[in-house]
Parts: sequence; structure tokens; C-alpha cells
Amino acid sequence: MKVRVRFAPSPTGGLHLGGVRTVLYNYLFARAHGGEFILRIEDTDQSRYVEGAEQYIMDCLRWCGLEPDESAEKGGPYAPYRQSERKQLYREYAEKLLESGHAYVAFDTTEDIEKMRKDQRIDEHTPAQYDHRTRGLMLNSLTLPTERVNELIASGTPYVVRIKMPENHTVKLTDMIRGEISFDSSLVDDKVLLKADGMPTYHLAVVVDDYLMKITHAFRGEEWLPSAPVHVLLWEYLGWKSHMPQWAHLPLILKPDGNGKLSKRDGDRLGFPVFAMNWTDPKTGETTKGFKEMGFLPQAFVNMLAMLGWNSGTEQEIFSLEELVKAFSIERVHKGGAKFDFEKAKWFNHQYIQHTDDAKLAELAKPYIEEELKSQPADSRLTTYDLRLVVSLIKDRCTLLPDFWSQGHFFFATPEIKEEAAIKDKWNDQKQQFFTNWLTEIQNLLDWTAIPIETNFTELLAKYGLKKGDVMLPLRVMLVGGKYGPGVFTIAEVIGKEETIKRIKRVLG
Ligand code: GLU
Repeated sequence: MKVRVRFAPSPTGGLHLGGVRTVLYNYLFARAHGGEFILRIEDTDQSRYVEGAEQYIMDCLRWCGLEPDESAEKGGPYAPYRQSERKQLYREYAEKLLESGHAYVAFDTTEDIEKMRKDQRIDEHTPAQYDHRTRGLMLNSLTLPTERVNELIASGTPYVVRIKMPENHTVKLTDMIRGEISFDSSLVDDKVLLKADGMPTYHLAVVVDDYLMKITHAFRGEEWLPSAPVHVLLWEYLGWKSHMPQWAHLPLILKPDGNGKLSKRDGDRLGFPVFAMNWTDPKTGETTKGFKEMGFLPQAFVNMLAMLGWNSGTEQEIFSLEELVKAFSIERVHKGGAKFDFEKAKWFNHQYIQHTDDAKLAELAKPYIEEELKSQPADSRLTTYDLRLVVSLIKDRCTLLPDFWSQGHFFFATPEIKEEAAIKDKWNDQKQQFFTNWLTEIQNLLDWTAIPIETNFTELLAKYGLKKGDVMLPLRVMLVGGKYGPGVFTIAEVIGKEETIKRIKRVLG
């Protein structure tokens, strides 16, 4: 049997890193087994539908390099891949369930249900559910005579179809990560399967589509575990039990302190991204930062995500996608939640930056440099620069792509002097004379490369009886604006003689 897995997001907003991890585990599993990976858009809840979210999800998958084999965009043998376009199809299955008595029609209004939840509450804090205990008190096809039900339907009274959960039944499920799990059916409510607008709910649609699309393995977030007994029963009631996919419920991604699920708000509060890419809410206009725009490389992001809840059983942490395909196994995914550690995420990115070739890195850093340059005074910008060379000089100091600006801005524009004290504090006439003289010397220096520049500098120092330690830091601050950066004579070489002279003169006055 051909392995077929799916990622089935609802287009309701930004793509949480937990969602990308679900994509990744699906993708790795499909690749490892020569199978197919399907993207199915679960957009049956019209009230939660957000414009642009579907396109955004596809863009995120593309950025991560985890593209599906079949999707609404790509098409495929089981199209359509958008549930809203499959609307007509679900009713037939709801009707089958009605016929077999595993589902029933319910006419209750929201107010009726609210009242029941309060009146029948289990205790002060626990409202009642619509279930075997309360369904007999409600307006549905179990309590009304058939003619009345038909009349109500014929007159256009809104109704939903609910599953009739059995009482005192143990529903069993074998989860690939958690092993055998048992549920007491009496504790599960009679979930709505078909809504008044004719749309299926997730519960019906997920079972019907996983069946029709021949899904063999279904990996989804742990938050879906409580609904699993409903799904298992639907597979059984629809007569498809032998086709049911193997399930794996993936552990949550937790806040850094381990206290609860990582949310968008934690990211805002603690200053790290939670979404794969920038997401702008079309209603509020509010933008939430993504890993991409923060300067992560997609390969580093994906590697980091793979390790959030899985390990290979070895010390190895850096895995290319191909290596992950070979090493990954769903059974090694942990049961417990995985704490998100932003420092570790940055460590992965730093590692990937070191191992990416300079031409590629230059291409990735370019938009950040160009954006920053826009806010620099026009007369401070250097007319030419070799980005590839600059990148090779500073990559070991860069963790995120914007660091190529903060660690290398002085290669692109004359910097402001931020550490003036480092020059001025121990300044004296001797140093003033030394630098003035050196400027004259270098005018005549023909070979403008780091070693001759340094030799020339050191030779002149001896004449002034100065030590390198007296003047190296001032020289660095003159050229860089601060106390950081690669070798100072290399900087001089790269920015050129004219610019070097300009920066020194600016301090000497
Ligand atoms: N539409 C569900 C979600 O947004 C998918 C759950 C599943 O994969 O079955 O999480």
C-alpha cells in the first residue's frame, strides 16, 4: 500500500511553528517511505476563515522547502483539496449515519443549548454537555415523532446532524507515539457533524476526506486527542474501519519555561517569532514577525523544528533534509511536550550560516543590507562594495541575517563614531602626530592590501616609540565606529585607501 499522509490546516491566520513541525514530520515520513504528501485546506468553518491565510500557508511551505505532492494549487487525483469545494459530498455520509441510527437531527437553538448546559450542569464549574445524559431533553429526532421532524425540516427550520455517542463503550486507538489508548465513550459529547449551513464540521470532514483521499497515516497535534474517539467511531460506523489511517498525535511545543503551550503572545512578550513568516492580520492590520524575516535560514529553521520533540538517539544535531529523511522515525517522537528554546534556535542558524557558501549568503544578506542603507545619509554610502567578500569576513560573528548589517555596516557606509571615548581618553600630541604622518605615508603606498598596510603602520609606530597597543583600538574605532569587527588592516583594505583616509581625517580634524 502506498503511504499517503496529509497536512490539513484550517486557514485561520499565521502558521505556528508547531504547524510547520507537523508538516515536516509528514513530509519526512512520506519521503522515507516513497509515499505522497498532501496539503488539504480545511476551510469548513466559515466564521474562522481568514482571507489570504491559504496563500500564506503555501508560501511558508515553499520557503521551508516542504512542498506537497498534491494540493489545491498543484492539483492531483483526489481534487478538490479545499473542503469548502467538497461541500456537497459530505451530506451523503451524514445521511448514511442517520439511516444507520448512529447520528440524529437536532433543532435546538444556541439559547436552548445554553440553557440546558446551565440547568443540567454537573457541578458549579462544569456545565452539561449535549450527550447521552441530556439528549433526551432536547429538540431532536430522538425525542420528536418522525412526522414532526419531517415537518420541521420541510418548513426550513435550521438543524444540525449530531453523532450519537454510545454509552459505556470503550473506544480503542493505537497511536504510533503513545501506543494503545482507551477512551470512555460516555464522557464524549454528541459532536455536530453537519452544520445548519450544510457544511460539515471538522469531525465529519476529516474522516470522509482521509478515507476518500486514501490517507494511510495521519499525524496531527495532541490537542486533537480528545476528539479521536469520535473519529474512530465514525470510521467504524461508515464501514471503513479496515481503511482507518494509523494515527500519531504529536506533542505540544511548550513555552520556554515549560508552562503550557507556546502561543503567539509568548513570542510578542519574549521577543521571538512563533510564526514561520511575517503574518499580517487582514482585519487589524497587525503584523506578527516570522522566523524568515527575523533572518533565519529555512534549512536551520527546519532542522531546529525536527529536533523539537524528536531525536535520532545519537549526539548528532545538525541534519540536512536528506539526512532527516533517513534518520527520522515517528516512533522516536517524544510523548511529552518540547520546550521551545530561542537561544538554541539561534544556535542552529549560526551553524547553518557558517556552512552556507559565501555567494549564497551574500544573496540572502543583500535585502537586509539594502534596506538599512536606505536610512543612511547619502554622502556616507560607499559607491561599491564586494558583498561576498564582506560576508566571508564577518560570517563567524553572525547568527541571524540582519547581523550582516550590524556586524558589517562600516563596509557599506561611513559609520558614526559610537565609542569616541576609546580614542579620546588617552589621546595626546604624539598620537595626533603619528596618525597625521601615517596619512601622508599611505598616500604613497602602492600595494593597498592588509599586509603591506600593516607593515607600513608598524614601521612608523617604531619611529614614534609607540606601541601597537596604544593605537590599534583608536584606529579600529576610527574605521568601524565601535570596538568590534574583523582585522582592522583587512577592513582598511576592503573599504579602500580613500575611504580609510577620510575616516581617519574626520577624527584628527
Ligand atoms: N484542520 C485541523 C487543524 O487545523 C487539522 C487536524 C488534522 O490534521 O486532522 O488543526
